Amino acid sequence: MTKIKLVFLGSGSSVPTVERNHPGIFLDYEGDLMLWDCGESSQRQMMKAGLKLMKINHIFITHWHADHFAGLIGLIETFNLGQRKKTLTVYGPEASRFIDAFSELSYWNFGFELKAVDVDFENGITKLFENRSYKILSVPVKHSVPAVAYCLEEKDRWNIDMKKARKLGLEEGPMLEKLKEKKKVKIGSKTIWLKDVAVKTRGKKIVYSGDTAPCNNVKRLAKGADLLIHDSTFLEGPEEARKESLDERHTSAGEAAEIAKNAKVKKLILTHFSRRYKNVNTLIKKAKKIFPKTEAAYDLKKVVI
Ligand SMILES: [Zn+2]
Repeated sequence: MTKIKLVFLGSGSSVPTVERNHPGIFLDYEGDLMLWDCGESSQRQMMKAGLKLMKINHIFITHWHADHFAGLIGLIETFNLGQRKKTLTVYGPEASRFIDAFSELSYWNFGFELKAVDVDFENGITKLFENRSYKILSVPVKHSVPAVAYCLEEKDRWNIDMKKARKLGLEEGPMLEKLKEKKKVKIGSKTIWLKDVAVKTRGKKIVYSGDTAPCNNVKRLAKGADLLIHDSTFLEGPEEARKESLDERHTSAGEAAEIAKNAKVKKLILTHFSRRYKNVNTLIKKAKKIFPKTEAAYDLKKVVI
């Protein structure tokens, strides 16, 4: 079984507090390290948590509001001073515009390639990255600037029972590889199906909404997810927010819980709390009435999925 480890580097919103840093999530998939957002002080938060920040190769920015990206500049400088050689890829809506600007701000050329990938923020679900074990997907969300949600979707795994395979005339080697890939293989006139000799382990799925008003795209992306991390800036919904001219850029605790319930996720973690809440118990209480498996993010909270 794979273990996906997450650390919340910040659980606050636009203005940080002593207790809550700007947003950032450190994700470790079996040694593949990445960040989802990189708010101010993200690198110090990683140091406090004892995380290997120099080994991060991919950074996914949900949108270019400073609370979600301001930590990137300092982190890139640290990579440079640390003699980094490996390419760093930064994903985000209009990423190249921002990465070009950061590069111009620096007196020196970086000793490593800083690659920007512009993420689609107008259409549906997009695949950004894929390897043998997992994919990273994005989907546009509803915010005041181009913004997306991200998803790590692990691929299903087939564990072959060699006893059963041998009984049917299969040995380890190219035939078995073909069976894994094509889900069936022919030996003479006999067809052997993968499901006859293997057990499927369902891949895990983790979704992070970024900043958004309640959004169907997040619900779609999060369908059946093991973990949904959702914006929960306020206790009340858009009516209350509109009154305070905060418009519809964010989601309330209850609305996030409705999304988790409708998407049938296994667990919901609320984050991006407004600084007005010294204590987020009222938000969690409200969400739990709708979706019991709700938790609150706090700085340096660790989660293993
Ligand atoms: Zn924000």
